[in-house]
Amino acid sequence: MTDGSEPVRRIHTEVCVLGAGPSGALCARRLTELGHRVLLVERHPFPRPHVGEALTPAVRPLLDSLGLLQAVRDAGSLAPTWSCVRWTDERVRRVRLPAGTRGFTVCRARFDQLLLDAARSVGVAVLQPARAHRPHRHAEGWEVPLTTPEGPRILSARFLVDATGRARVLGGRVTRTGPRTIALYAAWRVGTRRVPPTCLEAGPHGWLWGTLLPGGEYRAMAFTDPEQLRRPRVHRSFRADFLRGLLAGSELLRELAADRPASAVAVCDATGYLDPDPVAEDRISLGEAAFAIDPLSSSGVDKALQSAMAGAVTVHTLLGGGGDRRAALAYYRDSQRASVEQHTRWAGGYYEEHLPYRDNAFWRRRARPLPVPAPEPAPRPDLAALMHRRVRLAPAGRLTSTPCVVGDQVAFRPALVHPALPRPVAYLGGHALAPLVASLHGGHTLAETLRAWSRTMSAEQALTVARWLYGQGLLVPQP
Ligand SMILES: Cc1cc2nc3c(=O)[nH]c(=O)nc-3n(C[C@H](O)[C@H](O)[C@H](O)COP(=O)(O)OP(=O)(O)OC[C@H]3O[C@@H](n4cnc5c(N)ncnc54)[C@H](O)[C@@H]3O)c2cc1C
Repeated sequence: MTDGSEPVRRIHTEVCVLGAGPSGALCARRLTELGHRVLLVERHPFPRPHVGEALTPAVRPLLDSLGLLQAVRDAGSLAPTWSCVRWTDERVRRVRLPAGTRGFTVCRARFDQLLLDAARSVGVAVLQPARAHRPHRHAEGWEVPLTTPEGPRILSARFLVDATGRARVLGGRVTRTGPRTIALYAAWRVGTRRVPPTCLEAGPHGWLWGTLLPGGEYRAMAFTDPEQLRRPRVHRSFRADFLRGLLAGSELLRELAADRPASAVAVCDATGYLDPDPVAEDRISLGEAAFAIDPLSSSGVDKALQSAMAGAVTVHTLLGGGGDRRAALAYYRDSQRASVEQHTRWAGGYYEEHLPYRDNAFWRRRARPLPVPAPEPAPRPDLAALMHRRVRLAPAGRLTSTPCVVGDQVAFRPALVHPALPRPVAYLGGHALAPLVASLHGGHTLAETLRAWSRTMSAEQALTVARWLYGQGLLVPQP
């Protein structure tokens, strides 16, 4: 009841996705394509501004596979061909960005709108603007109290997807993956000012990043420790002066310090974290509701989109799509954790490369030496030399049951594990590895093995698998 006289209206759906950022919109779309009834709830009317405008090249093939690449280009995007970097030492390096490695910048208001339109176009129902409050579990699923312009609503859903970004409406504990970090940012109209199309610069207590946005504005951001803003002479209301001071002291962005920004200077949390428990039988958290990575790599949107794709097959399996629920839970939890851990290691190594201020707290807290790479293996004879020798799997190699995406489901499949492999490998070039690896226990020569493999694939494919195994040190001659 609202005021004791009118019952609160109820809405029912199978899957409720909260938050229509990149992760929510994409997951809602995939789940609808997989046959589920999905309601997407978004707090703000679109288009709405959002940080995270620089996208990695990896986003392109994904957008292409969704049929959205051209629409994103048409809506306006920029792909800078060079960048200025001042990181390891005081030197400014002008880095040319070869075509294949070039990221691109978008207007997130338009980008997110396109993804939402794409979700709508396949039949996702959208409730917007509608603010979700903390959901409650009940016997058949979830109840989510909503505030809408037409009054309060109660949403009932069998399955809940939290894609509300850092708001994390489902709550729950997260583990910090890095030191507390804040970001200050604004946009400038640069006109004739000389600023690089994109740049990264290290400073005594943090780093600065800048990029030209489609539409002609220039985004600059500073990342630093929160205590920098809490120092007595840097009161909260002086954040604009604080950012201007950082820009004035920079080599690459100092011209911006002369102008007032076109937007107010905003401050937000940019601390990395990971939800150790992002999925259960009736709920899942995606994108920044599940993890936040250091913005240093500009790959938050890429990771959010990847988590939406992984999340959709997980939810489809959990809702009885035919796969294995235990595999689905393990697959989502482990893949998100592995992706965040890999990124955290990379970021620590990148901070480690910075030298001039390495003894300052900001850099000490973040720098992590990368593990020493294993020594190059001694050169080995060509694979052809093994053709008439008996071969086997290297002693440390074995098959283990691993959750894998098989079509639109998650299921356990045997996968090859070995210390030389960064992760278990179940398929190679579309072929299941397990039966091929199992046949290596028969005491056959390489020629006989290749003939046996060629019964289920072409001779050329069999040779490719053998070369890959040999290259990884996993195929060895019998002593
Ligand atoms: C300072 C900073 C700079 C960054 N720069 C980059 C970058 O250059 N490149 C990059 O790839 N990534 C960047 N990121 C990360 C990137 O912004 C995020 O990874 C990405 O936006 C996550 O997408 P998402 O869909 O998970 O969440 P979001 O994009 O945050 O979407 C969440 C949605 O949920 C809605 N919502 C929230 N609460 C509710 C509620 N209660 N009810 C209903 N709806 C709700 C919000 O309105 C929003 O639309 C940056 C992050 C920070 C902090």
